[in-house]
Amino acid sequence: MGSHPVRPDSAEAVVIGAGVIGASVAFHLARRGIKPLVIEKHDPAAGSSGACDGLVFLQSKKPGLHLKLALESRQRFEHLKDRLGGGIEFKAPGGMCLIESAAELDAMRRFVEEQRRSGLEVDLIDGEEARRREPCLSDKVIAATWSALDAQVNPYALTFAFLSAAKAAGARVATGEEVKGIDVVSGQAAGVHTSRRRISAPVVVNAAGALAAEVGRMAGLEIPIAPRRGQILVTAAAPPLLRHCLISAQYVAAKFNPELAAGGGMGFSLEQTDSGNILIGSTREFVGFDRRTTFDGVRSIARRIAPVIPALTRVPVIRTFGGLRPYTPDGLPILGKVAGLEGFIMAAGHEGDGIALSAITGELIAELIDKGSTPFPLEAFRLERFHESGL
Ligand SMILES: Cc1cc2nc3c(=O)[nH]c(=O)nc-3n(C[C@H](O)[C@H](O)[C@H](O)COP(=O)(O)OP(=O)(O)OC[C@H]3O[C@@H](n4cnc5c(N)ncnc54)[C@H](O)[C@@H]3O)c2cc1C
Repeated sequence: MGSHPVRPDSAEAVVIGAGVIGASVAFHLARRGIKPLVIEKHDPAAGSSGACDGLVFLQSKKPGLHLKLALESRQRFEHLKDRLGGGIEFKAPGGMCLIESAAELDAMRRFVEEQRRSGLEVDLIDGEEARRREPCLSDKVIAATWSALDAQVNPYALTFAFLSAAKAAGARVATGEEVKGIDVVSGQAAGVHTSRRRISAPVVVNAAGALAAEVGRMAGLEIPIAPRRGQILVTAAAPPLLRHCLISAQYVAAKFNPELAAGGGMGFSLEQTDSGNILIGSTREFVGFDRRTTFDGVRSIARRIAPVIPALTRVPVIRTFGGLRPYTPDGLPILGKVAGLEGFIMAAGHEGDGIALSAITGELIAELIDKGSTPFPLEAFRLERFHESGL
């Protein structure tokens, strides 16, 4: 234990990780009167929640359960901005998914129909209408899908706001402390041991993001979550240039439609923050836990976006960063109880959607811990689905 004295402790629940997911779980638990202890090995938002965009985008979600979960989460953001205070920079300017080829248009037509069937209000508009709404777009954009519900938030501020509201309601947050092992007694999680102490708890939540597989191994579980790097360019603060949150149709395609993704190239996403900086993302790479940005990555993003929004070539880029999405093989998070290990709860694997899904994830996980079940079925998000399907 090095120079640290061993201080045994106990908590009603231990949450591993103070990213947006662990913070939201802690907030929702504390609101229910269950006082969690959040253990974070670095600082809050030191992982992917502090190295990402802040899109609360609905159009990028797979029609069906994924989109339904995102819609539920989106609804909650309306109230969260009041509950958590005004500092989370939540706004809903609406969003567009930009279409640049006939093949994309064809796929997006089908996609929109499916999204509508899943309850999303979304329209297909032509290129001219897209430019009327978003004048900075070039004529490379031949059409777009549009939804008024698409929104954005400051992910860093959101994580800290969840945590301070959780603390105000009785949660504790320990930073610079690493969970090193999960204690299991007769098939039941009994707590954790950390770089500083042993903590007994009847409930342990794995909210370790891209590192959730490592935490799983501590409990003898195989969890198929892997880091998927995304690089982002940040411009200097600029006068309002983007009126909406924007992503490319290719981005949606790359996530869900292998046919379209096969054409090569990369998707992009764009948002202008309250302070005027424009975030331009992002690559999707499997390079282990390497968060660095690369010359190739940065150049490919800049080259990709310049013909679509030529005005961006006149805005200086002041910084770049990389983050690690917690990827899962089927693009859905892993949520809820784990077979054979009572008291161990998964809340990880949100890949490129963790900010958008944070509100509903925290609420459902807290309800599951408190009541044993949730109104929104978590069946499709079980860890066991991978072992059953062989994914
Ligand atoms: C480039 C990029 C763009 C993105 N854009 C968007 C977007 O626009 N919208 C959206 O919704 N999502 C987006 N995402 C995805 C989003 O960032 C993630 O889904 C989300 O941040 C995951 O949150 P998390 O809390 O699960 O993980 P993290 O934020 O990574 O938090 C996990 C925490 O656990 C801690 N931890 C790990 N192991 C231990 C241990 N053993 N002991 C103690 N602590 C531990 C880590 O230090 C970390 O702080 C993007 C991601 C990237 C990389």
